Amino acid sequence: MIPGVRLVVLGKQGAGKGTQCVRLSHHYVVPHVSTGDMLRGEVKSKTPLGLRAQSLMDQGELIPDDMVMEMVGARLSERDTRGRGFVLDGCPRTTTQAERLEDIVHPFGVDLVVNLEVPTSLVMKRLASRRVCVDCGANYSTAAPPMVNWTCDVCGGEVVQREDDTEEAIQRRLDLYEKQTAPLIEWYDDRDKLVHINGTGSPDSVTRRVVGAIDAQRQARRPSVP
Ligand SMILES: [Zn+2]
Repeated sequence: MIPGVRLVVLGKQGAGKGTQCVRLSHHYVVPHVSTGDMLRGEVKSKTPLGLRAQSLMDQGELIPDDMVMEMVGARLSERDTRGRGFVLDGCPRTTTQAERLEDIVHPFGVDLVVNLEVPTSLVMKRLASRRVCVDCGANYSTAAPPMVNWTCDVCGGEVVQREDDTEEAIQRRLDLYEKQTAPLIEWYDDRDKLVHINGTGSPDSVTRRVVGAIDAQRQARRPSVP
């Protein structure tokens, strides 16, 4: 029996966060809970939350903490995530969200917060080659395109380069991310939950580093294995 995990993965755009979250959720047999995927789902099904989110995004507004946490709280209260855990992707973004997350996962707590670190120069290269499905948000690259003619393998949507994937815009987003996440990183570091993982190299080797860090932390913190 493979023990589950309650894992948060942080990382700037282009750090390979999505890829690692999928791999880790398979490894630990827990759901990959992605706020991006959930939001897209709510918008697509036109739920009340989805409609509110859509109108905010249309106005160029950010989704407020309350809405994000309402969605995450509902998902993490379901039987599968409550029982075995989760790989959480896209949340928390702020210390307010991190505090709310603690309440949601009480009394278990989050096991570990992984910060995937990749040098900016490499992120630039990755993002410049990135292609995205306009319908479902699936990620591809010029090195790993969809099987058929820039048509999404997942949903059949059109796969394109995002208009805002220019070097200047990427740099701006990276700077903003750094500024926004710094307090969050410190918050988790203060609580002894944070581990920095080198995100360069093959996806396999990055996954091995994360799994190794989780094992090491479990050894150190027995007997709190879920
Ligand atoms: Zn798609």
